[in-house]
Amino acid sequence: MSYQHQYVDGTRVHFPLGKVVCIGRNYAEHAKELNNPIPTEPLLFIKPGSCVVEAAGGFALPFDRGAVHYEAEIAVLLGKSLSTRPSAEEVIDAISGFAPALDLTLRDLQSKLKEKGLPWELSKSFDGACVLTPFVPASTFPDLTDIGIRLTINGEVRQDGNSHLMLNPIVPMIQHMAAMFSLQAGDVILTGTPVGVGPLEQGDELVLELPGVSRFETRVL
Ligand code: ZN
Repeated sequence: MSYQHQYVDGTRVHFPLGKVVCIGRNYAEHAKELNNPIPTEPLLFIKPGSCVVEAAGGFALPFDRGAVHYEAEIAVLLGKSLSTRPSAEEVIDAISGFAPALDLTLRDLQSKLKEKGLPWELSKSFDGACVLTPFVPASTFPDLTDIGIRLTINGEVRQDGNSHLMLNPIVPMIQHMAAMFSLQAGDVILTGTPVGVGPLEQGDELVLELPGVSRFETRVL
């Protein structure tokens, strides 16, 4: 079944999926674990809508292409367009919801691409490379600088972060993105991954959470 945005109560979001705009190295401890320098300005990349799958029922991975790493991230769903230099108020008004998500990465391939100074698309844009769960309406979140993100695999907590640890907090990050290119209703922002990334294996049981707000079980098929 092709992916369509929905909210946790099962209602469908009325605008279609757009692109997925991502930020790399947005948590200092994660940049360190991969021996990457902390960027001096936001490191952006885009995953196409074609790579998005829903978490329900599990997801398949291209294991014939080297290590596939999980990156648990807070996903932001936009419900309005943003371009040029939106104010913080305009960004907040454009956010429809939040969800825990996975930015999946062919890590061996990405390392080779990085070495050669090449773009990351081949490692970040394969079919299934973005796993989304249903969104929790934005009104549930009074403070965007205090949203947790947790990933548990086979009963062990692997990643446990919070938006207060972001080098670029959610609102200024989206302001910066919108200054670089237009964002549209249906676009998703992946806000970076906290420390603790690692490989996925077939049969892994995952729990993706915005702790206290959203909890979703899925597995690697
Ligand atoms: Zn990521």
